[in-house]
Amino acid sequence: SDERSLNFIEEIIEEDIRNGKHGGRVHTRFPPEPNGYLHIGHAKAICLSFGLALKYNGKTNLRFDDTNPETEETEYVESIKEDVKWLGFEWANEQYASNYFDQLYEFAVELIKKGLAYVDDGTPEEIAQQKGTPTEPGTNSPYRSRSIEENLRLFAEMKDGIYKDGEKVLRAKIDMSSPNMHMRDPLMYRIRHAHHHRTGDTWCIYPMYDFAHGQSDSIEEITHSLCTLEFVSHRELYDWFIEQLEIFPSKQYEFARLNITYTVMSKRKLLQLVNEGFVNGWDDPRMTTISGLRRRGFTPGSIRDFCDRIGVAKRENIIDVSLLEFCVREDLNKTAWRRMAVLDPIKLVITNYPEQREETLYGENNPEAEGGEGIREIPFSRELWIEREDFMENPAKKYFRLGPGLMVRLKHAYIVKCDDFVTDEAGNVTEVHCTYIPESKSGEDTSGIHVKGTIHWVSVPHAATAEIRLYDRLFRVEDPGNEERDFKEYINTESLQVLPKAFIEKDLTGAELGRGYQFIRKGYFTMDKDSAPGKLVFNRTVTLKDTWAK
Ligand code: ATP
Ligand code: MG
Ligand code: MG
Repeated sequence: SDERSLNFIEEIIEEDIRNGKHGGRVHTRFPPEPNGYLHIGHAKAICLSFGLALKYNGKTNLRFDDTNPETEETEYVESIKEDVKWLGFEWANEQYASNYFDQLYEFAVELIKKGLAYVDDGTPEEIAQQKGTPTEPGTNSPYRSRSIEENLRLFAEMKDGIYKDGEKVLRAKIDMSSPNMHMRDPLMYRIRHAHHHRTGDTWCIYPMYDFAHGQSDSIEEITHSLCTLEFVSHRELYDWFIEQLEIFPSKQYEFARLNITYTVMSKRKLLQLVNEGFVNGWDDPRMTTISGLRRRGFTPGSIRDFCDRIGVAKRENIIDVSLLEFCVREDLNKTAWRRMAVLDPIKLVITNYPEQREETLYGENNPEAEGGEGIREIPFSRELWIEREDFMENPAKKYFRLGPGLMVRLKHAYIVKCDDFVTDEAGNVTEVHCTYIPESKSGEDTSGIHVKGTIHWVSVPHAATAEIRLYDRLFRVEDPGNEERDFKEYINTESLQVLPKAFIEKDLTGAELGRGYQFIRKGYFTMDKDSAPGKLVFNRTVTLKDTWAK
């Protein structure tokens, strides 16, 4: 969308380029904490930071913000890399905040030497107490006036493992009466005798987010550091550290987080869904993680399109999930090959079609593409599977499918007329009996008969079978994260429907992972990774139309 007007970050960047700031260079970064899988909110941040660099001939670093040894794991690092690549982006450098632990330590020593940082022995409660409230000034810590020499010695001892977790912290010496709570002598380092996924047991002190993040940006000479609105109040501190250290002046800009209806958007909550068994892993197709959306059949292009359409705002809002579904429909409509699949089958017998006879019919793979992307062969015979819902014993008015006396076209095949049906002891319809009109073959129809309905089918002796998984919203309410109740109370317990034995066109046994198919009249589907030879599983990505009623 080149015609759209500039968003506020593009305006800032273009102004910077005009002024020759940093030689007109644009260098962004995406800084995930490897403590979970990425979700669609992260996709927005990725599309924004990588997208801006692409637009302005710049670069983007992928930087793992790995300063919390307890929650971070290599599994998450790998999944994040896979997801960013899958979305279609390439990073210039792969970095880790932990690569900078030595440098960050040196920066801290420098601030101590300037009289701008001190070691505090207070408990977390005492330190919180000193902070005061947003309307009242705080009070100085009794340790605030320690000498530079003593602070240097104590900080070195913290690093050397002399103290236990929580015994001491390093704080910046700023202003306990600042109207900005983050400026009231914030913590820079804490003691954690914990194993780190990259640095192992080398460190027992770890920098806080505010001390690690801006300095990492600066070390990498990031020009535009984009983050979400909750960091607005951190910006003053971000700038303060950089100024005091006299290092590369990266600048932070904030945009509104993405929120989407009927889902939660926080790794902490998504982790609970996984750990407490509400879903089958981070890549459960009902999850709005990138891996879940991928498994569900969303395409990278559809997610990028979605992020583009929602734009960049400075105010929080909540986006209707149907926009995301719209985007994937748009994309798959252009690319997905069409196939027939009967999800809830009953048998249709064509009584005037000879028993041993078979014929081959033809259908385009993709009528939306030029040349149809080739033609497939579709075997036809006397016995077909059709959808149970395409037959009604007592057809309603305007029901243009099958029922006693009604006629319908079989897609790519013939017009049939329903003469009779068979039921089991319980009264369920088991077979529909029809006669076909031989002159009504698709493409060479001379019958002169007009029918309103067309239904899909699969030939009984030629069909392959598959398990089909249909998904509904994972939550029953638009905003399950509203904090009024535990979000798990809003879970939709009917969000997964498994159809154990659907019949599909046989060539779908060669379906590829990651490819979308349109099952005619039924929606867009993709093969699930649970598939094995002889056991196919398909996920419904999305229905063909927005049929979901509120
Ligand atoms: P969560 O609360 O889900 O754990 P986070 O912000 O703690 O998210 P990070 O790994 O720190 O997760 O996020 C990496 C980047 O992605 C940050 O710059 C963050 O601002 C951005 N981000 C996270 N969630 C969203 C969202 N919902 N919308 C837009 N950007 C987001
Ligand atoms: Mg974070
Ligand atoms: Mg978080």
